[in-house]
Amino acid sequence: MRKPIIAGNWKMNKTAAEAKAFAEAVKGAIPSKDIVDSVVGSPALFIQELVAEAKGTELQISAQNCYFENAGAFTGETSPAALADLGVTYVIIGHSERREYFHETDEDINKKAKAIFANGMTPILCCGESLETYEAGKTAEWIEGQITAGLSGLTDAQVSELVIAYEPIWAIGTGKSADANIADDICGVVRATVEKLYGKEVAEKVRIQYGGSVKPENIAEYLAKENVDGALVGGASLEPQSFLALLEAVK
Ligand code: PGA
Repeated sequence: MRKPIIAGNWKMNKTAAEAKAFAEAVKGAIPSKDIVDSVVGSPALFIQELVAEAKGTELQISAQNCYFENAGAFTGETSPAALADLGVTYVIIGHSERREYFHETDEDINKKAKAIFANGMTPILCCGESLETYEAGKTAEWIEGQITAGLSGLTDAQVSELVIAYEPIWAIGTGKSADANIADDICGVVRATVEKLYGKEVAEKVRIQYGGSVKPENIAEYLAKENVDGALVGGASLEPQSFLALLEAVK
């Protein structure tokens, strides 16, 4: 049995005071880690405060990106070593917004995955196709390519621990969530790709989230699917009550 993982992705939202207020509002109501991994993906700026707020609770803090070197002349970047030192447990990598606006390649994302594992954290590796690829019926082939490149050189133990988020670009922030059966099919493609590369045992362990306009009203449909082990949620993770309602759906 794979444990569900619900992760909020705040993107470039909130101020420090708003982040603190969020943590104060949710921290008494986070379900046990035995049932679900409850994660907030915060801008790097607020991580220290959030980790302090989350201390003694089951809330886990994720970064939304990092660099693949631990130190050096990389102006403006955040090192995985520094994130791990703060108490970060997950790092989102390869989000479609980073691939599109910041020109991240599969190769960069693969280097980041290795650096995150080397620093004792777990990557949440995002994949997903454009509307054009979806309409051309080439989603499976596209996803297989992104996963194969993203996982290159990772060990069986690392991939067993990895989280992969399938997020069709056309469903992100649009209110047009993918049909739960489609989400299940493509998460199945992700799992089949992992099986092809790492074997059945690893493929049964890797956790796969669906993301794209997930909200409290529809999350249960996704979680009910065989290949969907959680959700990566943008807009609906910003408000405390909405975030708690997403976690509630797991119980
Ligand atoms: P959304 O974003 O839930 O606002 O669609 C999801 C994501 O980009 O991770």
